[in-house]
Amino acid sequence: MGGKRSKKPAPPEPHALRHSHEGPAASRAFGAGVVFAGAVVVALVIGANLRHPLPLAAAVAAFLMGVGTVTGILARGRLAACRALLDHEHWEPAIVELKRLHSSRRAVADEAAYLVALAYDRQGARTLALESYRAYLKRHKRGVWAVEARVRAGELEAAPQVSSRPVEVALNCPFCKADVAEGGTTVECGGCGTAHHAGCYEEQGGCAVYGCQAKTARARVRG
Ligand SMILES: [Zn+2]
Ligand SMILES: [Zn+2]
Repeated sequence: MGGKRSKKPAPPEPHALRHSHEGPAASRAFGAGVVFAGAVVVALVIGANLRHPLPLAAAVAAFLMGVGTVTGILARGRLAACRALLDHEHWEPAIVELKRLHSSRRAVADEAAYLVALAYDRQGARTLALESYRAYLKRHKRGVWAVEARVRAGELEAAPQVSSRPVEVALNCPFCKADVAEGGTTVECGGCGTAHHAGCYEEQGGCAVYGCQAKTARARVRG
């Protein structure tokens, strides 16, 4: 489409990706909600007939478990949608949603925080990636993502110029989404380290990476 040399087929739209993951999760959450609501009603009826506090306590417990289960299913659906957005390089909507998930629910907050760092890392925003990995490690010392975050943060600290990348994703310009290796002079954002086409950086009036406000680029020769 717009990209002059883009050879990739157009990726699915963000709203379609979100819908395909959040829709099924919403149906499952609704089903679970119905089951728990039924359990609450049954416990309340039994409690009213027996005039005993135990079934009422069970009703309260079922209600709380129901709320936890439903919000958990919805949050996992949103997280799955974010992973799909990242796979299709829709960085900005993914990061916006992941930051929301990070501040909301504990069960997925851990993974959401890690994925924010990974999103910056995959698009080559080294400074933002390093900051996010460090922030993640401050809060989460253990677990598989902590290990990966520590390794990757160490790599970025030791050799910030090395583009040893955790996944096989072509380095795309965050403005026009085409490969930065094609299309003339490349500049590197002075704030986050992401490579742009010189013309794209100019047109955007600064960095096109979500979360980076830098307006200064330094020229970078790519070999
Ligand atoms: Zn570009
Ligand atoms: Zn930047």
